[in-house]
Amino acid sequence: MSEEFVACHDCDLVHRIPVGQEGRSGRCIRCGGVLFNEKRNSVERTLALAVAGAVLFVVANVFPFLSFDMQGRVTETTLLSGVRELWNQDMGSISFLVLITAVVAPGMQLLLLLYILVPAHLGRAPHQLSLCLRLLRRFEAWSMMEVFLIGIFVALVKLGDLADIVPGPAIFSFAILILVLAGAAATFDRRGLWRLVPVSA
Ligand SMILES: [Zn+2]
Repeated sequence: MSEEFVACHDCDLVHRIPVGQEGRSGRCIRCGGVLFNEKRNSVERTLALAVAGAVLFVVANVFPFLSFDMQGRVTETTLLSGVRELWNQDMGSISFLVLITAVVAPGMQLLLLLYILVPAHLGRAPHQLSLCLRLLRRFEAWSMMEVFLIGIFVALVKLGDLADIVPGPAIFSFAILILVLAGAAATFDRRGLWRLVPVSA
């Protein structure tokens, strides 16, 4: 059975472990830190979640997010029209933050996952795997859809007396997308991907 070397993230002790430990995890013999935690069918499961996420992302951005009925005057907003409205009301920095944390970062997260996982599913390593994985970490850190959603709920409670507010299909897609992205992050196995990269002498 082939083996590979894994350094402990916590104490740097190098271990030699057999390849192909799907569904198993291992701990460092010196400090007990987690050495590896290989998920079963990680590529297929994460790819399925990323495809579902991409559909939800499109729905969340194209369809109405909320509609307000204020004394017969109905206003519909989408995620992007909300961003534009903030910009028009001289809240440039908040508008930019919403755009980055609720639209750009999750969108880039999904694009990168698909870019990495489609070739991985076909048994090939994507070009620039290390760059993609680094970018993925960056965008994961900036993806804060749940914070945005909590902000929306707080605003809804406060506006509830002033207008009738009807949630649109986008807000439900947005909420499910948060769960799907969390699931994709949980099933994604970075370490396993490196086996697809040929080792050059
Ligand atoms: Zn250790």
